[in-house]
Amino acid sequence: MAETIVVVVGAGVSGLTSALLLSKKKGYKITVVAKHMPGDYDGEYASPFAGANIVPMAEEKEKRWESQTWKELKRLVEEVPEAGIHFQKCHILHREHDLKNPAGFPVHAFSPTPWYKNIFDDFRELPKGQVPDGYDGGCEFTGVCINTTMYLQWLAGQLLRDGVVLKRGIVADISEAKNLSHTGKPASIIINTTGLGSFKLGGVEDKTMYPIRGQVALVRNESTPMVICSGSADGPGEELYLMQRAAGGGTILGGTYDIGNWDTNPDPNVASRIMSRIVKIRPEIAGGKGITGLSVIRHAVGLRPARKGGVRIEKEKLDDKTSIVHNYGHGGYGYQTSYGYAEAVVELVEDIKGPISKL
Ligand code: FAD
Repeated sequence: MAETIVVVVGAGVSGLTSALLLSKKKGYKITVVAKHMPGDYDGEYASPFAGANIVPMAEEKEKRWESQTWKELKRLVEEVPEAGIHFQKCHILHREHDLKNPAGFPVHAFSPTPWYKNIFDDFRELPKGQVPDGYDGGCEFTGVCINTTMYLQWLAGQLLRDGVVLKRGIVADISEAKNLSHTGKPASIIINTTGLGSFKLGGVEDKTMYPIRGQVALVRNESTPMVICSGSADGPGEELYLMQRAAGGGTILGGTYDIGNWDTNPDPNVASRIMSRIVKIRPEIAGGKGITGLSVIRHAVGLRPARKGGVRIEKEKLDDKTSIVHNYGHGGYGYQTSYGYAEAVVELVEDIKGPISKL
């Protein structure tokens, strides 16, 4: 049987996971081409900046993506420690004000009766006495926290093991990807996982893409459980969350959810507010010393690749012999939906391959 030549453009969590699931199927020669690779830190590359955890943000009708991904992330924690993911208790706190006036994180995540209570074994509502001052209610469940630096490298390693070739490259127009396979043969399928890059990528130029700026602080201090709040007293877009990454990855203190802001420079005033909010809700993380008790590894900004109308997951014809499968626009939930969307990519590719293999 002739092999199908596939080029994946993008090496963030969406591209690497799509390539990984496709590499498990027989009959594909896969090349991943990207401007940024695991190990890089750049404002154009969202994946290293994520916490990352799973707090389902979709409406119930879209629950497929997060439910499918949760099953695989759980399996990775239980069976594959080298992936750099661990279980961690998570507290989700909400204020009535944020549910009525959404200005930051999607509100579905903070519903007092979320659909996702059925996917976590130990989901429970927090009794009033365990809800910190300033918040109206909350829940607790055991989720995961991903050490993204380690996990992206692990994904890349899995691809190499499966015979996928990784290459650096800047693609000006999506049609160029057709000629970028390591085999030297033209690709019949291009997978577009360029995230925010799809805003200006020739042949795509999706102007419904927009950034949601996320400033965070990564510290050496440790603290559990994770906490994610629907908003903070510092105003719209000023969030409050904490996630202790697996395997010495430090603790992410968040953050901001600044819609439409392309600025990738950390703002020192914002950094100071982020740390102040954390030591107020969790003084013990800094030994009661306030922000001077935090040992900062770095302040950083990542741009969540958001899209009006949600993720673009669909196939498109480039020409008679080539198709594109798009998988981009995951906003602030690219890890927690990664396996769901990668499975959809495989379904679309197999759908395209059907008619091609009959030619
Ligand atoms: P990216 O990671 O941006 O990767 C895009 C890839 O495409 C890169 O390799 C880039 O170089 C390449 N590329 C782009 N244009 C071109 C081109 N023209 N030619 C060649 N290559 C190109 N998600 C969660 O699930 N849980 C969380 O807790 C979470 N927390 C977050 C916190 C912050 C502060 C931020 C910023 C994001 C967070 N996210 C979280 C969201 C998550 O990080 C993103 O949804 C996800 O990383 C998007 O991955 P991606 O692969 O689609 O895009």
